[in-house]
Amino acid sequence: MPKGNAFAEMVAGLDSGDFALLSSAVHERECREAVGFGTFADAASLYRPQPACPSCRAKGAWRDGHEESGLQRFRCRSCGRRYNSLTGTVLEHSKADMTAWIQFVRLMRFSVPLDATAEICGVSHQTAWEWRHRVFATVDGYQDRIVLRDRVWIDETYIVDTDLSHGFGQARKRGLSRQQVCIAVAIDIHKNPVAVVCGHGKPSSRRIRESLEPHIAEGSTIVGDRERAHNALVKAIKGTHEAYKADVSDPVYLERVAMVNNLCSWIKRYLWRFTGMEMKYLQSYLNWYVYLFRVKQASERWPETARVVRHLMLADARFRSST
Ligand SMILES: [Zn+2]
Repeated sequence: MPKGNAFAEMVAGLDSGDFALLSSAVHERECREAVGFGTFADAASLYRPQPACPSCRAKGAWRDGHEESGLQRFRCRSCGRRYNSLTGTVLEHSKADMTAWIQFVRLMRFSVPLDATAEICGVSHQTAWEWRHRVFATVDGYQDRIVLRDRVWIDETYIVDTDLSHGFGQARKRGLSRQQVCIAVAIDIHKNPVAVVCGHGKPSSRRIRESLEPHIAEGSTIVGDRERAHNALVKAIKGTHEAYKADVSDPVYLERVAMVNNLCSWIKRYLWRFTGMEMKYLQSYLNWYVYLFRVKQASERWPETARVVRHLMLADARFRSST
């Protein structure tokens, strides 16, 4: 006979209301031990102890009691607005608790598809979709701040736009290349990545320049295929060009482009997990990928789930429902 669990009988005897309470307390403790906080109020007191007024940005608001959930309430000294520690973040108005969000963030870190996420989190597909897009709202414009420097490897990768809403006949007429969405990808010697949507089909010199110029420091060395479309970019950043003939049997070529090739194939594998997503969100998926890439690089110093939740709490972002 296996050694009995002293709590098994007690737990089996609980009514459903008490069992739900016990279960939530257990989850809260698990989260607290794993990431350092178990409720929104815990995390808010760590990361948003004194948030600025969401209306007028004034600091030093009066403390104004607590919500039922334990969240601190504030009243702005200059405009009088009342708010709480989550106002102005994507977690505001969340009906679920922090433990559900921690679970969700873990699944999103591993790019778990939406239907699986919905089932594991015990929420509807629609809710899981909305949560995903709340998270995306926090990485809107995230790549705008990324500037690669010194040696920068660049390449393009393509994914098929399977969106059939254009109509089958029309899609065929537009030809195969028009159904390929181009993603311009770059990574520098410091392992900072960038991935931006660069229109349909093979990009022109102008499209490449417009997509990547804001992300590359002046004077950098651009390393890539011997691709004429890269010339305008090199000129725009006053950089130098190290072009290699695409030759997979040449070890020098392979070594030079391995880094960016890897990034392209990782991005493709990542995107394949979301087959059927709407193409209008492609840049959001790429922003999230680049964000996670950087979070992973620092994972030894900073546990990933805790860091992502902190990011969600600190980002002034709002989820806009597209419907
Ligand atoms: Zn105010």
